[in-house]
Formats: sequence, C-alpha cells, structure tokens
Amino acid sequence: MSYQLETQLAQTGNRKDPATGAVSLPIHLSTAYIHPGIGQSTGYDYSRTANPTRTALEEALALLERGDSGFAFSSGMAAVHAVLQLFKSGDELIVSEDLYGGSYRLFHQLEERTGLNFKYVDTTLPNSVEKALTTNSKAIFIESPTNPLMKETDIEAIAHIAKSHNILLIVDNTFYTPILQQPITLGADIVIHSATKYLGGHNDVLAGAVITKGQALAEQLTTIQNSIGAVPSPLDCWLLVRSLKTLGLRVERQQSNAQALAAFLQAHPAIDSVLYPGQGGMLSFRLQREEWVPLFLERLELIAFAESLGGVESFITYPTTQTHADIPVAERERVGICARLLRFSVGIEHVQDLQNELQSILDGLVGEDS
Ligand code: PLP
Repeated sequence: MSYQLETQLAQTGNRKDPATGAVSLPIHLSTAYIHPGIGQSTGYDYSRTANPTRTALEEALALLERGDSGFAFSSGMAAVHAVLQLFKSGDELIVSEDLYGGSYRLFHQLEERTGLNFKYVDTTLPNSVEKALTTNSKAIFIESPTNPLMKETDIEAIAHIAKSHNILLIVDNTFYTPILQQPITLGADIVIHSATKYLGGHNDVLAGAVITKGQALAEQLTTIQNSIGAVPSPLDCWLLVRSLKTLGLRVERQQSNAQALAAFLQAHPAIDSVLYPGQGGMLSFRLQREEWVPLFLERLELIAFAESLGGVESFITYPTTQTHADIPVAERERVGICARLLRFSVGIEHVQDLQNELQSILDGLVGEDS
C-alpha cells in the first residue's frame, strides 16, 4: 500500500530490525561485517560502502524526494562535490546566479583547477537558460528559491529545456524540502540537500544528501560515494532519521510563522523591502539604512544572529559578511545582495514572541533616528 508523505515521514526507519522488533532504528556502529564464506555477503561488508543505519536514511530520502536512490554525505558541500564528480574537464554547467556562497566558492575553485566551466544565469528566466546553453553544456544546476534573494525558478520549464538538450537538471532543494517541492516529480534528475538545514532541523547534525533518478546515475553515485568516502557517521544518520519524522510538522509551523512575519515586516517603516515567495520558512528583508544593521543584530535576544537555517530555533544571518562573503562585492551588488539585506530562517517559536522582538528593535531604530 502506498502512504501519504506525512505517514511515510512518521514511520521513517521503523521496522528495520525484525530480529528484535525494535521500534527505534538501531545505530550500527560496526565498521566491518563477517562474510559467511568466500564471495558471500550479508549485503554489508565495510561501513564506508554501506551501513544499515545509513541505508535506512538513504531509503527514506529516496522515498521522500520520489527518486530511485538516496545517498547520504557528511555535509551539504560533500554532496555538491560528489555530484560534480559526474563531470570532466571542458564540461560546462549552467548555474543559478544567486546561490549559496559555499557552492559558488567550490565552483570557482574547481573552475581554476579542473577545467570545469560554470556559467551564471538568472534561472528564473527560462529563455536566458536556453540562450546560455552550448554544445559543452552538460547540466543545469539550480537553487529554487535562491539564497538569499528567494527567487523561484519554474523547475518544470527548466526540466523541459534540459531534456530537449539531453543534459541533466540538478536541483538544490535545501530551502523548500520535499514537503513543499519535489523536483524529481517536476522533471529533475538529481536533488541535493544540505541536510544540516531543514532535514536535520535542530542545528545539531552536519550532513548532506543526494537523490537520483534512474539506474545509471545511481550506479555512478554509488561509486563516487564509496570512492571518496565523505559519509555521515551512524549516529548522524540516526539523528537525521529521527528528525525526518517531524519534518512535515516543523515546515508547516515555520511556514505559517514566516507568512505572518513577512506581512508584519512589509508594513514596518524601518523595512525597505521583504523578499518572501509566499511559502516556506525562509525570508529576506532589507533595512532602510545600512548603519542600522549592526544595531539590529546586536539587539536580538530571542532570535539568534547565527549562520545556518532550517532549525526549530529562529536565526538571522547577514549574507554580506557570512554566507555570501566569498562572492565578489560587485557581483553581490549586481544581483541585489546589498549590505542592508538580512536573511531570516523562521523557527517554530510562538509567532507573537518573534514579532514582539522584531517590533521592539525596529521601533527603537526608527525612534532613535527621529
Ligand atoms: N546548499 C544550500 C542551499 C545551503 O544553504 C548550504 C549551506 O548553508 C549548502 C548547500 C551547504 O551545506 P553544508 O553547510 O551542510 O555543507
């Protein structure tokens, strides 16, 4: 029988230990497994290649993203790096122009050292993507919504372009999660996550995920994951399985809080603009004045001024000096990541407490200025 996403989430990792009937998934710390005989295996030989706790997580990831295979990594960047191993010198990737600064940094390093080429395009405009393609293009890599400008890309339209040119579509789905968007059902070939964010959800696990469609990609990623070995520990896998059980509830609450706070911020005189696509728990906003930024951040008491997102606790990040510091200033300014921009990862706290804190700080800034 096939179940709804919420049911699958609640049951993640369950019934994996028929020998004992354990309800909670066992954490298999063993790195090696006894061979019953020469050429025989239980399916597990050595933990870098496969580990039962990781397998439970990887099966859950594939199911949630509606892919065929899931691969867990030791960080989101390790996941991005693993996917880039699919390409060779001279290949070109079309990528979203405002994307996570760490991905930009990795692309830049690989461009210099390996001969891979990255072409930055506003992927919210399918025509621009179509025009950017050359005979060397091998994949389109998008974040939707983008980080931190929250611009959504029409994944179906881009998937159509990728298919008609016989190239791969890779989607970093960290921000929306499979609760709000399942790129493979829209035509993507590969989904990437920084599982450190919403999938983990509690700011206590660093991990990444890759979900693929079809046999060929599964085989390639299996080889890459095993060869490079940037896999998460069994404990981290277990923590992720545990976290996935509440993913739906967390995202629902983060989204309703974010919708209310986006409306509040939009109406406040200290705010110049709010960037919120109408769904999800992430929003960005620009203060009216750049000199207010340090005061605003120093006065936060409940919301943490910290560099991550997707957790149950609210975080505000300053892309200029944190997540996007590695992107050249001119490039940042060109796409709209100005020095007045703050990124808000809305948590599951009571929305009134969050609004009260924002209101008191923003009222103060306006008051002191008059
Ligand atoms: N992709 C996105 C959209 C991110 O926001 C991040 C991290 O912030 C990453 C990838 C990298 O993930 P990690 O920090 O787990 O390596």
